[in-house]
Amino acid sequence: MMETPRRARCVSRPRLGVVLAGGVIAVAGFVPTPGASRATNNLDPADRTASATGSRASDTIPAPAQLTWRPEQPTQGTLVVVRITPAPGTVLNTVSGRGGGEDLHFYAVDGGAMESLVPVPVDASGSVQVAVTLQDASGSSRALEASIPVDPGSFHHEKLEVAPELGSPLSKANAARLARDQAKAREVSREAEQSSRLWTHRVVLPRKSRVTGGFGDGRIFNGQVSSRHLGLDLNGAVGDTVVATTRGVVALVDRFLLAGNIVYVSHGAGLVSGYFHLSKQLVAVGDTVEAGTPIGLVGATGRVTGPHLHWVVRYGTTSVNPESLIPALAGR
Ligand SMILES: [Zn+2]
Repeated sequence: MMETPRRARCVSRPRLGVVLAGGVIAVAGFVPTPGASRATNNLDPADRTASATGSRASDTIPAPAQLTWRPEQPTQGTLVVVRITPAPGTVLNTVSGRGGGEDLHFYAVDGGAMESLVPVPVDASGSVQVAVTLQDASGSSRALEASIPVDPGSFHHEKLEVAPELGSPLSKANAARLARDQAKAREVSREAEQSSRLWTHRVVLPRKSRVTGGFGDGRIFNGQVSSRHLGLDLNGAVGDTVVATTRGVVALVDRFLLAGNIVYVSHGAGLVSGYFHLSKQLVAVGDTVEAGTPIGLVGATGRVTGPHLHWVVRYGTTSVNPESLIPALAGR
């Protein structure tokens, strides 16, 4: 199938299916720290969430903190912001936890509260679990859990009646190169997990242009979704400027087999963005970039039908719809 450059996107992908979540803060219940004799849940109206997971607790002791999140009901393959708000008189010492299958990285926000991004995996079904341990200034620790309800994403899937063609099989050398590329990308995620938060509430699109390939789109064969498109394709002509989405440090500048010329930026606290198929890279590893710093030029390198930007956002190694980054980072 021929594609004009204006429709350019990654190879073998159906188009569109963009989802955006927005909403309000919800409140979750509490569960006791293992070993704690009594649990607290003095929160309203989030009992429904806690109850839904069977984790509802009694409400006899004032809660040391609230666990809330936004948006209230996120969509598959997006970012959520979880907030721990200490009760008056409580000082949070440390907060750690897991959510959406990834380690969470909390940072301080207003009023002594802590926040972390949480990825909702694209294939999350029904809900995403968050488990947080917090320690107050006295050293006593509490566990908080929440089950965040998840809406299905509106992805476009191409149904195949016959086995999908695999294209020309990768040569041994190319298969090895692909494995190396993937290992390098995982290493960027590890670096981002180990560095503190660099991103700011100033966040921009890497290109202000039309979406030509949606996040999460895939193909269905024998009832199974395969070949998910785990980035967002943005329209562009060769030479158009691509900018960093928010502050970070350039973690990798390379030429990948499928993604062509790439730039990966680590934004710290587990967050990574990637910019693929570039005709030219304008930054070097170690460069600090801000929201809007030019990092490369649109191109058609790698496996593409024409020039465009494939934009990737990951929390840990979980890819999310890059569009959900904007409200997650900027939203207050
Ligand atoms: Zn793409």
